[in-house]
Amino acid sequence: MAKHDRVVVVGAGPVGSLAAFLLARAGIPVTLLEAEAALVIDYRASTIHPPTLDLLDECGVSAALVQMGLITPVMQYRDRRDGKIAEFDLTQLKNDTRHPYRLQCEQFKLVGWLYEQFAKMPNVELLLSHRVTALTQDDDGVRVTAETATGESKAFDADYVIAADGGRSAVRKLTQIDFPGFTHREHFLVAGTTFDFKSAMPDICSVNYTADPDEWYLLLEIPDMWRVILPVGSEVEAEDARSEAFIQSALNNLLPRSEPYDIVVRAVYRVSSRVAATYRAGRVFLAGDAAHINNPLGGMGMNGGLHDAISLTNHLAEVWHGRAGDAALAGYEAQRRPEAINAINAMTERNKKTLEERDPTIRRAHQDELRRIAADPALAYDHMLQTSMIASLRRSGMLG
Ligand SMILES: Cc1cc2nc3c(=O)[nH]c(=O)nc-3n(C[C@H](O)[C@H](O)[C@H](O)COP(=O)(O)OP(=O)(O)OC[C@H]3O[C@@H](n4cnc5c(N)ncnc54)[C@H](O)[C@@H]3O)c2cc1C
Repeated sequence: MAKHDRVVVVGAGPVGSLAAFLLARAGIPVTLLEAEAALVIDYRASTIHPPTLDLLDECGVSAALVQMGLITPVMQYRDRRDGKIAEFDLTQLKNDTRHPYRLQCEQFKLVGWLYEQFAKMPNVELLLSHRVTALTQDDDGVRVTAETATGESKAFDADYVIAADGGRSAVRKLTQIDFPGFTHREHFLVAGTTFDFKSAMPDICSVNYTADPDEWYLLLEIPDMWRVILPVGSEVEAEDARSEAFIQSALNNLLPRSEPYDIVVRAVYRVSSRVAATYRAGRVFLAGDAAHINNPLGGMGMNGGLHDAISLTNHLAEVWHGRAGDAALAGYEAQRRPEAINAINAMTERNKKTLEERDPTIRRAHQDELRRIAADPALAYDHMLQTSMIASLRRSGMLG
């Protein structure tokens, strides 16, 4: 039985916002606390995988995403020197998903759309400029304390807390949950340009993973621009990597041009691979980057976080409405944590190793293997089920 009549969600990024939206739709009042004063525009996730859209169909989120995004059914594995190695067409998954493509839609568009929905939903309270700094809990509930922009300290009581406050999660630290794993030495540079790479590289498609021992890159078409993600050595300061000169040189390395590229987006990120030791401390649950972080090669971090939000809010709704006992909440971690370890983090690390492999014999073996998979319909089908996250979601019971 609910004692405080609400769930507090900490962090209104994609995962916290989706969790708040789904809870409210399930009839559970939510207070959503966000440290920043306005919607955060950052240039991280854009890839949304087919099963994420399937899972978000019924609540109307997928239709909004498809309207805002770019449909990209084909993906390639390439090599800087050897060009195209293998191509996969996700339309071949049409019997496995209602959305047989990757959708490119920046994460802030999803969050912005959810903020608009909150304004129309009476049982969601979105409080911007509320940074959570303290948390206590007992058998009856959780008290979360947030600092406002004016330095005021405010307390919120809840039956449960969802911590979706990102990779550096304050709530994870306050609940003393370990976050084992490692941080990569290099940074990842994200550069966006309006230059149409397809006009100069006619054999590419919209999603291109390009291997190279020195400077692998991901070249991605998203709405309104092309995005390039590439590694920046640890000897380069993040500020230098964001400079016009550095980005022009990196893009000219990729495709030399006499004209400068017009750079409309530039960002540098630190990348880690970590999974929280547990997803639960009493009445507090971790979700999204607060629970697991991974490199972006495969486009799985936010997708995995959205799957967390779906799983956790389903479990909470069962308990909240008395259809299941408290013990059912253990099902969340059981369903989601193995996915982070065995699917998301394992796959994205494997992708990174393949792209950056230096040994020419191993690189050649990777290429041969990819060509073999792409040439065999059964192997290609299985590869697409794995890389689209359909296979792992079926294993975890989230998809039929
Ligand atoms: C370069 C790059 C590309 C990526 N591309 C993809 C991709 O294509 N597909 C994909 O699936 N994933 C991708 N990712 C990963 C994706 O960006 C993250 O997994 C996703 O942002 C996680 O969402 P989140 O809501 O858990 O955390 P965040 O997006 O980090 O949001 C956390 C929110 O919590 C707020 N917050 C923090 N501390 C507090 C506090 N104390 N109190 C209140 N609020 C707080 C923050 O302000 C923020 O709004 C990429 C990552 C990078 C770096």
